[in-house]
Amino acid sequence: MDETPHLVASRVCGDCIVCCKVPSIDDPLLTKPAGELCRNCSGAGCTIYTARPQTCRDFHCQWRYLDLLDENWRPDRSGVLISTKTLDDGQHGENGVHGKAAMVMVVFGDHAVVFDDGFARLVAISIDRGVEVVLSLPYGAGLRAHETALRPFVAEAVASGSLAEVKAGIRAAYDSIWTGGAT
Ligand code: SF4
Ligand code: SF4
Repeated sequence: MDETPHLVASRVCGDCIVCCKVPSIDDPLLTKPAGELCRNCSGAGCTIYTARPQTCRDFHCQWRYLDLLDENWRPDRSGVLISTKTLDDGQHGENGVHGKAAMVMVVFGDHAVVFDDGFARLVAISIDRGVEVVLSLPYGAGLRAHETALRPFVAEAVASGSLAEVKAGIRAAYDSIWTGGAT
């Protein structure tokens, strides 16, 4: 079976430039800190598109890959950039998810989205499919982030099929890491 992820046909970035600002970039041709608009971004697109670094060529957020996400999940509309990473044994090791691939939900916009039904449904579907999900809440200059794996907070609720309990678990996870900023 072909396990290679495929972009959703006909889904395009449009006016979104979130991945030119929110993540850090560490490429031989371009480095920038998280939360800072790339110097090559006009505000409407890339001014060096045909010569952009390989890191930029290789990256697509999960909204471009996941068919179950609708147009409202486009990062510039949702305030959530969904990317992937392999969990290390630092922040997430204590949760028993070290070494696993995870979907990282970087909430760079209004935090209200974290408590939506849609957010909870996506978390529940992902956890149910065995995908680890990390809630990432950037803060301050350079957009450092408070993060936690969500499985320990929602696994039982997902198994029980209760969306209300999944939402409560997400709230507990949020409260465990968010103190309003850089503490
Ligand atoms: S964040 Fe996603 S939708 Fe937005 S420009 Fe980057 S790849 Fe495209
Ligand atoms: S080089 Fe272009 S594609 Fe890459 S981050 Fe900068 S503006 Fe975006």
